[in-house]
Amino acid sequence: MSELIELLKALIEIPSPNPPGDHRAIAEFVAQWLRDVGAEVSVLSPTEKPDARSVVAVIGSGDPVIMLHAHIDTVPVGESEAAAWSSDPFRAVERNGRLYGKGSVDDKGPLAAMMIAFKKLALSGHSGTLVLVGAAEEEVGGQLGTRWLADAGHLPQCDFIIVGEQTFNRVATAHKGVMRATIRTTGHSVHATNPDRGVNAINAMARVVLALENYHHELSQRVHPLVGVPTCNVGVIQGGSTANAVADQCMIRLDRRVIPGEKPEVVQAELRAVVDSMELAPATVEVGEFLYSSPFESKLQTSLGKAFLECSSSLTQAPAEPVGYLPGSDAKHLIGLVRGDMVIFGPGSYEVAHAYDEYVDIGELEQCEAVISKFLQQVMQVGVERHA
Ligand SMILES: [Zn+2]
Repeated sequence: MSELIELLKALIEIPSPNPPGDHRAIAEFVAQWLRDVGAEVSVLSPTEKPDARSVVAVIGSGDPVIMLHAHIDTVPVGESEAAAWSSDPFRAVERNGRLYGKGSVDDKGPLAAMMIAFKKLALSGHSGTLVLVGAAEEEVGGQLGTRWLADAGHLPQCDFIIVGEQTFNRVATAHKGVMRATIRTTGHSVHATNPDRGVNAINAMARVVLALENYHHELSQRVHPLVGVPTCNVGVIQGGSTANAVADQCMIRLDRRVIPGEKPEVVQAELRAVVDSMELAPATVEVGEFLYSSPFESKLQTSLGKAFLECSSSLTQAPAEPVGYLPGSDAKHLIGLVRGDMVIFGPGSYEVAHAYDEYVDIGELEQCEAVISKFLQQVMQVGVERHA
């Protein structure tokens, strides 16, 4: 069995479901493995959640600074999911060229590939700095994982970053962001025998919801070449308390997907404009409780970016063109740390990532490792000129 497969099996068999997000065992394993190959390793966690341990390993010094990033947590295995698994999700099982197990593709496969590539470079002698981040908390948004590592100054400025996620080994350079918002309408409650004396907050909200549906359709005019169109979806509605009274309160929560190039303040202003365009008086309406995570886009204009695309297309025979990535990733937390390009890259599909019988195709996994290794050997052994 190859060292890569053996390593991935070991990683799968150290469960790290999140929630609850106890990362201690997996972080310690990854840290020790990286210490053994000669890296300087820190295991770090925020005071708010001491079990959310991330691993940061470094070899070398100077330019270029390249980061390999993968997360060490997985989604939890729910009860109905556990029943659907053909084997124990926390035992690595090899079958028909695939390795099954929770985290096999998301994200322990990419993590194992990066660890092997890291080791090969460590043993071969090189120029520049290679950083490997085994991040906690990605599956719950990364606030106490990668976001915290970046904000607390534990991560360096980088010339190139590879975020390991499921892209079928295509080079993904963009994903959408999301703006969440809450809208509340307020009316005046009276007995339902004479509703015209009251002000119905649900009727007012109904008009807002339909206006948002129109807005969603208008957004389809804005097309991003890699990630498609922005969207607006109302996912929650709550209002009123009883059928025999006019409702004086109604609330909705919405999810507005944001494409690269859209600005959060403009998106907020658009949502307010949609609401303000409705004549709701005497009902009143409020838009707020915004939660935002930014989209990400890299243009692949640096020599490192171009070299990575070239390595991947030559080994995978895929077209040398970047693609989009539909789910979010920790890339959004790393935008401020990259002075060059950032890509998302890894075997498999995100569609098998959060489901029963999660697996990674062994050939694809080996290919992922080969691409990262070839790239690192190429750009760190000879040293390349950095383009800011
Ligand atoms: Zn993932």
